[in-house]
Amino acid sequence: MCGGIGTDGGDETVVVLFYCYQGLGAEGAAQLAEEQQRLGAELRLSGRVLVALEGINGTVQGGSAAVTAYEVAVQRFFNTRIDWKRSAASEQNLFPDFVVKQVSELVGFGLQEAKPLDVHAEGGTHLSPEEFHSRLLQNSEELRIIDVRNTFEYDVGHFDGAIDPGMTHTAQWPRYVKDNIQDLRGRTVMLYCTGGIRCEKASAYLRRRLNDLGDSSTPVFQLEGGIHRYLEAFPDGGHFQGANFVFDKRAQMRSASTSVVGRCSECSSAWDTHHGGRVCAVCRALVLVCDACDATSSGEYWCPEHSEMKGIYHHFLDRFTAEELQLQAGALQSCLAKEVGTRKKNRRNTLRKKLTQVEARLAVLTRSGACPGPPIRRCRACERPYSECPGSCWGFWRRTEPE
Ligand SMILES: [Zn+2]
Ligand SMILES: [Zn+2]
Ligand SMILES: [Zn+2]
Repeated sequence: MCGGIGTDGGDETVVVLFYCYQGLGAEGAAQLAEEQQRLGAELRLSGRVLVALEGINGTVQGGSAAVTAYEVAVQRFFNTRIDWKRSAASEQNLFPDFVVKQVSELVGFGLQEAKPLDVHAEGGTHLSPEEFHSRLLQNSEELRIIDVRNTFEYDVGHFDGAIDPGMTHTAQWPRYVKDNIQDLRGRTVMLYCTGGIRCEKASAYLRRRLNDLGDSSTPVFQLEGGIHRYLEAFPDGGHFQGANFVFDKRAQMRSASTSVVGRCSECSSAWDTHHGGRVCAVCRALVLVCDACDATSSGEYWCPEHSEMKGIYHHFLDRFTAEELQLQAGALQSCLAKEVGTRKKNRRNTLRKKLTQVEARLAVLTRSGACPGPPIRRCRACERPYSECPGSCWGFWRRTEPE
């Protein structure tokens, strides 16, 4: 260690969430990534940092003094004010290591704009938590409060009256905008997310599409600092119900209020804790499942978008009998017949692939007269039994997107 401030000074362990949009160029991004690696090692930090040509996004944990030194170094690199969202870490290690990844976008919107979005010039107007709060109080018909996070995040907690666009990943935002832009025109649009980074792009994208329609007057706002800053300003939760989902081992941060808005997808009882091993059999999005249901289930679940595939589409097939597989094949075929149109192309491919797997498994059973395997709970990622899975291949450990 050369000149770093260690975490073993007995000081408090903290976590910071941060981002900064600033054009870096290829050389600048490479330099930044290198400096990040060095800082992580010197300051003995853990966390996830994404570096792109458009800036940086990270969640970093370490000793309080080390994190301060890190903040100073990053601030110096960008030479601009960065909003550091700091919180005390009750868990010792939220991340197993410090990973810096160079990516094409800080948030995976999958945008292919001829002219890249400029969040500073095109983004929605920032509202402080207090301003956002007082606009929510007006609760007018003209308001459109949109949660730009994923459904599995919305389900754990959200603002009163907020719209869930029904996304399992952020790349579905452009489709939501396309389908709803006429309803949004002329209203007051208020966007929010976890810490603010997704709204920067989401609001810029929405404003560009409004501009395409010659509409430069529809007001588009974004909550500065996201739910994180709002809950700091309104510790009792204010208009936010439930918990703020975060992408690390904590999974969520609560306000002082104990309201639980989530529901177990199996038994509908109040439940709002996500678990990295409880994911959709089809798309691997997190699914809310209570401990009681998980203890007695096969370990396969379905997200709201894929709920109609419940009992039809399974990841692991070897525990089923030939009769069960026959039924699944029939059900998959009738699902396939219902999915028409270009938008359903991915869905059809998914179903076809599974149908092929079911038929192959059926052939094996028929040919060899083999019996189905025992119903062992297995890891979706490494396919080993849970008891043998190192636990580093799924859930939050595996995640690389900090927000
Ligand atoms: Zn349950
Ligand atoms: Zn799904
Ligand atoms: Zn595993």
